[in-house]
Amino acid sequence: METTGFERHDHGACIRDGVSAVDARCRELGLQFTPVRRRVLELLLEGHRALGAYDILDRLREEGLGSQPPVAYRALDFLVKHGFAHKIERLNAFVACACPGESHMPAFLICRQCDKVAEAEADMRDGRLGESAAAVGFRIERAVVEAEGLCPSCQGAAA
Ligand SMILES: [Zn+2]
Ligand SMILES: [Zn+2]
Ligand SMILES: [Zn+2]
Repeated sequence: METTGFERHDHGACIRDGVSAVDARCRELGLQFTPVRRRVLELLLEGHRALGAYDILDRLREEGLGSQPPVAYRALDFLVKHGFAHKIERLNAFVACACPGESHMPAFLICRQCDKVAEAEADMRDGRLGESAAAVGFRIERAVVEAEGLCPSCQGAAA
C-alpha cells in the first residue's frame, strides 16, 4: 500500500507534477482545464489538507478569480467527476487525487489533529470485505474508506 502526503517530500515538485498530470489527462480526453479549475486543483494540492468549498471560494475571491459559489462548486464537480480530486464525506471537504487518471478505489487517512489527509490505495474488493461480499454473492462497485487517527508529526507532538 502506498501513501502520499505524510512523508517528507519535495512539495513544490508534488504540486507541479499533480497539475501537469491533470493537464495531460485533460488534453488526452479533450477536457477544458480552465484557469479556475487549475487554480482549484493547486489549492487542493497546496497543503495535503481537505478544503471545504467555502475555503476554496474565499481564496478564489481574494485572487479575483470569481466570487460566486457556483464558480467553486463547478470547478470541484469537474475535478471530482474526472477523478482528479475526491470528496471526503466525513469532513465534507475535498482533496486532490494522488494518482489522477488512474482507476482506483481510494482510502483516506485523516489526521484528526492537523486535518492532513493522505490517500492510500485499498481495493476493498480484495481482502476481508471482498471475501464477505463474495460469500453472499454481492458485487462491490464502490467502497469508501475514511480512517481517522494521528499522522506521524502529530504523534511526535503528542509524545
Ligand atoms: Zn506534497
Ligand atoms: Zn485518488
Ligand atoms: Zn497531524
